[in-house]
Amino acid sequence: MGKIKPPKQRKYGKGAYRCRRCGTHEALIRSHGIYLCRRCFREVAPLLGFKKYM
Ligand SMILES: [Zn+2]
Repeated sequence: MGKIKPPKQRKYGKGAYRCRRCGTHEALIRSHGIYLCRRCFREVAPLLGFKKYM
């Protein structure tokens, strides 16, 4: 009695990546190892030196 249940861990299957910034699955860019959605990529791109892809 009194056993503590381990917290549920959400597992994401292969290819299911989340945006590292906001955590969304939509419009995720991972072609350059960025793992960011469009919105975040657009904001972070200049900082990472991806001006070419703007
Ligand atoms: Zn994002």
